[in-house]
Formats: sequence, structure tokens, C-alpha cells
Amino acid sequence: MSYNRVALIGLGLIASSIFWAMKRAGMEAHVTGYARSADTRDTARRIGLCDTICDSAEEAVKDADLVILAVPVGAMGRVAEAIAPHLKPGCTVTDVGSVKKAVIEAVGPHIPEGVDFVPAHPMAGTEHSGPEAGFAQLYDNRWCLIVPNGAREEATERLEAFWRALGANTERMEVEHHDLVCAVVSHVPHLIAYTMVGVADDLRRVSDQEVIKFSAAGFRDFTRIAASDPTMWRDVFLTNKEAALEILGRFTEELFALQRAIRTGDGDTLFDYFTHTREIRRGIL
Ligand code: NAD
Repeated sequence: MSYNRVALIGLGLIASSIFWAMKRAGMEAHVTGYARSADTRDTARRIGLCDTICDSAEEAVKDADLVILAVPVGAMGRVAEAIAPHLKPGCTVTDVGSVKKAVIEAVGPHIPEGVDFVPAHPMAGTEHSGPEAGFAQLYDNRWCLIVPNGAREEATERLEAFWRALGANTERMEVEHHDLVCAVVSHVPHLIAYTMVGVADDLRRVSDQEVIKFSAAGFRDFTRIAASDPTMWRDVFLTNKEAALEILGRFTEELFALQRAIRTGDGDTLFDYFTHTREIRRGIL
């Protein structure tokens, strides 16, 4: 069963892609949208993003059956507090935040009795942000992780069906496990990309032009990833501190072991390591 009215709070890459994917799927829901900045709301109106752009979050969520919080993780709690008194009884609130424990702690206490909160995380993105960055195919064949968090089963299943209609596959995950998995597959790799680009920039003997000109796919991907939205990624590391530090600790241990192997000319260690990681990759595909 689909939703009649959907509210998008925050109108960036993730929300605008949800809207275009809803339209592509032929969903007839009326979609309201709100973003904090008047410029963003004007852009949304100009490009036809949402059926109605509202000038307050409170107005956008009024009568909505599904409210999607698509703001940076650090803003989720404030937004939830503002909209809480205006939520329709029986509606579902969800979010798309890249971190789940911190969002549940920030949003959960504001959710009124009779409203379901079903946290979700679409594992899809690009280095672009803002209302013009979205496109209908973003979620095709990507995972959307759902953290039921005590919500009613019907509400959870309805949200899963919504994400599948947008093109995603869904899987349920326990909150702490979600944050650890995302630290490994997304958060720390982003941090490594940021640092690699920082290192290249710091190395005055190699110019920025050379970095771009001679970079093959690997480094080019680092520069692309390192162009991702700074607010979003600051919030991810501030709120997924524990898991990010655990993975970073393990990463630096491995890096030091390889550094030592290079320094001591230990080709066997390097060869075995690279063989092992190649087997892992082949096993995944
Ligand atoms: P974005 O920067 O493109 O958009 C964020 C939007 O939120 C903007 O419209 C901004 O105006 C609005 N906003 C910020 N603070 C607000 C507030 N207090 N009230 C109302 N609106 C506010 O970001 P995005 O990439 O769409 O990310 C949104 C969420 O999705 C984040 O929580 C992020 O962690 C999550 N996410 C992002 C990606 C990705 O790769 N970009 C992937 C999965 C999940």
C-alpha cells in the first residue's frame, strides 16, 4: 500500500532523487518539500521538485502519511523536534541518515505516541549535493538498509515496499551493526580519500594539474569522493565516532604492517597480502 502524501524535509541529492524516482515509479502521492534555505526552496520550485514547496517544515508535514528526514545527520534532532507537534497520528517518520544510532537517539525522543519511526539508509550517493543533483536512477539496484527500531511491522513493511518501488533492494539491520558496516564500507574509505587528496596537495613537488592529468582510475576516484559535501561528512564522523575509530585503528595497523614490509623489502608479506585481498574481491563477485 503506497502513501497518499509524502513530505521531504531537506531537498538535497537524496531527497530530490527520491522525488524523481517516485515520479518514475508512477506513484501518485502528493509530495510536499521543505529546505531551510530560501535559495534551495526557490531552486526546487524552479525545477519542479515536489508538488508543493512549503515555507516551513511544520506546514510540509501536515497531513503527510510519510515524512522523510533528508537533512544532515547533525540537524535531524532539531528538525524532528520542530515537526513533532504537527505530525498526523498514524503517520510514519523515516530518515535517510548515513549513521543510525545517533539519529535514533536524536529523533526518537521527539516522536509522539501513535507515530512510527522507521530509520532507513539508502546506500547510494554521488559527490554532488543540493536540489539539482538528484536523478531518478540513483537507487536502482542499490541497498536501502532498514533499522526497524521497534516500529510496527506494517509500518516497516510499507516503507520497505516504498524503497523497492524506487528501485532499491532492502535489508533489515540492527543499529550498531549498521554503523559498523557503514564505517567499513563507506565512512573510513571516504576519510582515506580525503587524506590521499590532502597528501597530494601537500606534496609541493607534484602540481595539482599533474595529479589530475596522470591519475588513472584509482586516484581520480579518490578526488571524486573527496569532493563530497563537507557538512554531511563532518556530521558522519562526529556521530559515528566509535565505529569509525575502531575501523581506523584496524586500518592503521594494517597500513603499518605493509609500511614495514616495504621498508624491509619483505616481498612475501606484500605478495601474500595482495593475493589474499584479491581472493576476497573475487569471492564477493
Ligand atoms: P545535501 O547537502 O544534498 O542536502 C541537504 C539538504 O538539507 C539541503 O537541501 C539543505 O538545505 C537541507 N538542510 C540542512 N539543514 C537543514 C535544516 N536544519 N532544516 C531543513 N533543511 C535543512 O545532502 P544529501 O546528500 O541529500 O544528504 C542528506 C542526508 O542523506 C544526510 O543525512 C546524509 O547523511 C544522507 N545520505 C547521503 C548520501 C550521499 O552520498 N550524499 C548517501 C546516503 C545517505
